[in-house]
This record gives sequence, structure tokens and C-alpha cells, in this order.
Amino acid sequence: MTVETTSIDTLVVGAGQAGVAMSEHLSRLGVPHLVLERARIAERWRTGRWDSLVANGPAWHDRFPNLEFADVDPDAFAPKEQVADYFVAYAKKFDAPIRTGVEVKNVVRNAGRQGFTIETSEGTIEANRVVVATGPFQRPVIPPIAPQDSSLTQIHSADYRNPGQLPEGGVLVIGGGSSGVQIADELQRAGRRVYLSVGAHDRPPRAYRGRDFCWWLGVLGEWDAEVMKPGREHVTIAVSGARGGHTVDFRRLANQGITLVGLTKSFDNGVAIFETNLAENIARGDENYLSLLDAADAYAARNGLDLPEEPEARIIPADPECVTQPLHDLDLAKAGVTSIVWATGYALDFSWLNVDAFDEKGKPKHQRGVAKEPGIYFLGLPWLSRRGSAFIWGVWHDAKHIADHIVTQRKYLAYYDDSQRHAQGGSEESTGNTSHDSRVHKVSELGVN
Ligand SMILES: Cc1cc2nc3c(=O)[nH]c(=O)nc-3n(C[C@H](O)[C@H](O)[C@H](O)COP(=O)(O)OP(=O)(O)OC[C@H]3O[C@@H](n4cnc5c(N)ncnc54)[C@H](O)[C@@H]3O)c2cc1C
Repeated sequence: MTVETTSIDTLVVGAGQAGVAMSEHLSRLGVPHLVLERARIAERWRTGRWDSLVANGPAWHDRFPNLEFADVDPDAFAPKEQVADYFVAYAKKFDAPIRTGVEVKNVVRNAGRQGFTIETSEGTIEANRVVVATGPFQRPVIPPIAPQDSSLTQIHSADYRNPGQLPEGGVLVIGGGSSGVQIADELQRAGRRVYLSVGAHDRPPRAYRGRDFCWWLGVLGEWDAEVMKPGREHVTIAVSGARGGHTVDFRRLANQGITLVGLTKSFDNGVAIFETNLAENIARGDENYLSLLDAADAYAARNGLDLPEEPEARIIPADPECVTQPLHDLDLAKAGVTSIVWATGYALDFSWLNVDAFDEKGKPKHQRGVAKEPGIYFLGLPWLSRRGSAFIWGVWHDAKHIADHIVTQRKYLAYYDDSQRHAQGGSEESTGNTSHDSRVHKVSELGVN
């Protein structure tokens, strides 16, 4: 179906959690808008994650403020399909104007007049504003060191589904963040020989003194941290809600049968070469773990919280042999490794957004999501306004800020001075509103839901 050229005040691109949150705030404030989603609502939770994935945070935390999960215990970890269902239900709750199956292909600023022209897979739209809600994790990244070896199956964690998908044999999982750790654990439990390549990481306790780490990060103000501490750009976080949730301890993974190796440096003729910093990475992870316990204890003492003490949480077991005498290299064929899973993260892709909203390195340039190009907004990016920005609970608050900004801008643009008011024969308010309302009407005729 091809749509005629039409117009809307605010166009939101993407209907993941960010797009849904944005739509809720815009609806509440009466801003005419349309959300375009190229696939389905919360598509990445359905098809961009492995089968057994559950949320990393408990259901009481990893949700929006105005709706609880229907069938998930608040302290449990919602399976990924239920996370997607949650956002579908949320969008229905306020009748979000979301149109699925429409891809935004190009956005350009209009010359000599306000707003943007947007090319979509179903026609052209004009909008005064565009909110870019296309995700913090868009394009899976496999680093250039990946071997050109056709006998090896290599996939990114975004394409990993379950152990049965990989050919018989051992697996090298590269990346010690939440994805790498959970996938390595699942593969080992399915009977695979697993090597896990571990770089710099944080590994907060799943829970401490009866409170989940999400709670501790909340009360300690860590989710609200506005800037990443210097030098932490390559530090991943290793947490898991799998099997009811547990603290990620790399030693436990090793005792279970996984061979830990250092950061993967290169490949040479079928041999993987590792950095020799595995013990250091594990020790740094321990430091991070213990520092959260310290901060939690200090907070509990200062506030007189009656939470059960948990001294055993401070017992760090001895390093296993794979840490004390780490492998420097691994001949993959000899070790029976037939697959590599690259849990090496994602990049952003704004190739469709041809506006002046980027810095010289191509990174979005914005202040709390308000881009340097007036009328363009970014939402859902890591550290958009703070540490929680790319997570479920955090994006809702960023969306609120952006919606408020849009309302303020609409007010400025709806201003008419005295002579204009007289010339138009109407009040400032009614003149502004009438034009925007007619735009909504046009779009709703397209059957945006
Ligand atoms: C493995 C994994 C586990 C995670 N677990 C958690 C967790 O437990 N808790 C938590 O809070 N966070 C978690 N996150 C982080 C974050 O919540 C998710 O990445 C989440 O999907 C981000 O939501 P979003 O709406 O910002 O982006 P996305 O979910 O990526 O949604 C963006 C949407 O935009 C659409 N789109 C993209 N380009 C276009 C276009 N040009 N035109 C139209 N539509 C377009 C996509 O189809 C997609 O549906 C996890 C991330 C990963 C990778």
C-alpha cells in the first residue's frame, strides 16, 4: 500500500520500549504524533534475542511506572516474549498511534521552511519534529579480527537462538558481558565444551542483604549517574536473571566446566591468541563487586535499614587453574571448537537520518536527547541523560523530558504577535491548535493503528 504525502506534528521512528514511552508522554500532553515501526512493536525483544533470555532486572523494576507485568511475579525475571507482550499491552492501554510494518528510509530537513520530509517504505510524510527511537543496540558488531575460516560457524549473539543451532563441537564465546556469560552458561549446560573470552567487566551481586542489585543501584543513585566514569568505555556489565537469577561469578563458570580465557587478541591460521590479562580482569570484576557491597553496607548503616547481614557474600573463592595458568592461545581445530559466538556488542546506524545532528565522528550530538538540529530528538541511547537511559525504566523518564521540550517548542511556534492576531482574526491559542489538529486528522485517516 502506498500512502499519500501527509503530515504530522511529531514523528517517532521505532516502536520498541522507547517509541512506546514517547507516544505515551506525547499522548498525555496532547501532541499529535505518529509512531512508525518497520516490524512489530518491541520486535527486538521477539526476534533479536536468544530463546531462553529473561530480563536482567526483576519485573518490579524493569517496567514502566503505569503498568505491572500481568503474569510475572514482581521479583521474578520476565521471559523475553512476555517483555514484548508487555509493551504491546502498554501501547494498547492508551491507544498509541503506532503503525507497524513501515520503515523510515530517509529524513531530510526542509529547505526554507519548517520541519522535515520523511521517506518511508509506504510514502512520504512531513513532520515538524522527528524522535529517533531506533534503539541503543542496532547493528551487531563483529570485530575485524574475526578469522576468514569457512570451516568455522561464526555468529553474533544477536543471531544466537539456542545450542541446537550450532554444529556439533566446542564453542568459543567471545565477550564476558551479560550476553556472553549467559550464552556460554547455556551452551555448557547443553553439554558443549566452552571457552569464554573475558575482558574488563563489572559484576554486581544479583542480590545483597535481601535486595536486588537494581534496588541498590537505585538507592545509591548509580542509575542516575550522568556521565560514565573515565576509562570505563570498554567495561561491560555481567548480570543474569537466568534460572531465577544469580550473581555472575566467573570462577563458578570455570568450576562448572567452562574454560576462561583472556581478551581475544587475534587469530592466526586457526589459532586464537588471547591477552594475558585474564586474572587482572577477574580481579577488577571482584573489586567492582566488593565495592557495591561496601556502598550498600554504608547506605544501610547510615539510614538504619533493618536488612539481614550477609558476610558470606564477601567470600571470594580461589582462582581456578584456567585463571592462574591461562591459555595464551588455542588451536581451534585441535580443541574441537567448531563455532564462535561473538558477544561483542552493537553499533548505531543512522544512515537514514540525513540531518545536521551528528558530531565530526558521526555520533549523535544532543543534550538529554535534544539534538543540535532543532526538531530532531534522540531517545533510548546509552547514557542519553544518565546510566539508566537505555534500560526499560530509564527510557520512560527521558521520553518525558523530550515530550516536555516538544510542548515548549510548540508553544513558541504557536505564538503570534498582536498584529498577526488581528490579521488572522483569532486568538494565539486557537490559531496554533487548529492547524495541529487538522494534521492529526489527516494521519488518523490513514488508519495508523
Ligand atoms: C540481550 C539484551 C538483553 C537486554 N536486557 C535488558 C533488560 O533485561 N532490562 C532492560 O532494562 N534493558 C535490557 N536491554 C537493553 C534495552 O532495554 C533493549 O536493548 C531494548 O530493546 C531497547 O529498547 P528501544 O526501544 O530503545 O530499542 P529497540 O528495542 O531496539 O527498538 C527500536 C525499534 O526501532 C525499529 N526501527 C529501527 N530502525 C527503523 C526504521 N528506520 N524505521 C522504522 N523502524 C525502525 C526496530 O525495528 C525496533 O523495533 C537488553 C539488551 C540486549 C541486547
